[in-house]
Amino acid sequence: MSLVLITLLEELAAGRLRVVDLTQPLTPQTPLLPLPSQWNNTPAFKIWELSRYDDRGPAWYWNGFETGEHTGTHFDAPVHWISGKDLPDNTVDRIPPKKFIGPACVIDMSADAARNPNYLLTPEHLRQWEQEHGRIPAGAWVLLRTDWSKRTDPKDYINLKENGPHTPGFAKESSAFLAEERDVLGVGVETVGTDAGQAATFDPPFPNHYLMHGSGKFGLASLSNLDQLPPTGAIVIAAPLKIVGGSGSPLRVIAITP
Ligand code: MN
Repeated sequence: MSLVLITLLEELAAGRLRVVDLTQPLTPQTPLLPLPSQWNNTPAFKIWELSRYDDRGPAWYWNGFETGEHTGTHFDAPVHWISGKDLPDNTVDRIPPKKFIGPACVIDMSADAARNPNYLLTPEHLRQWEQEHGRIPAGAWVLLRTDWSKRTDPKDYINLKENGPHTPGFAKESSAFLAEERDVLGVGVETVGTDAGQAATFDPPFPNHYLMHGSGKFGLASLSNLDQLPPTGAIVIAAPLKIVGGSGSPLRVIAITP
């Protein structure tokens, strides 16, 4: 075995490296992104029992399930957005698997989000982060820590008002900077989608989706436990289901961290 893999196993066994689960539980109650009613909305997660050591299957327990591709903690592929529809290898089954692993850069804007639920990450905030922690490397997962996943009541999590949801996200200049100037793998957020709650009203609408996916980058939504990661030094593994032609999928996202 290669030395680096032996070392990885030894460090995990010794507890000097930890595995952190960045995934929210997937249940029929998992909060969903509410789109304006003229559009199709994503179905909730549905699960039903096939057998449980009974006359439907005497020695085994298993379930069937049904879900939207973008339900719960999930992966957004470039084909998800119109700007990425003609890119090569833009569906979950065709993305090269080495692109599911990358170093994590965790941007903490939890204080800003606590003050203002509509806070947008600015390029100034990113520049300040790079001054403290170094340049965001190509191929990084940029994770936006807002502590939004600590809102365990779905009402507070979605924060829906008369004019739509109010949750934090990216200013479009920040999305463009990360996609074009830093060539990241993608961005991950704790909120229900990778755009801010009010992004349907932005120009272009949902600019983070538009710019990231138009550049062949990915998204991770509904992450948790970002407060357990250092600003740099962790690795994120985010491998979606191999749905042929799929635009995304629920997944288990884990981080390996010192
Ligand atoms: Mn999505």
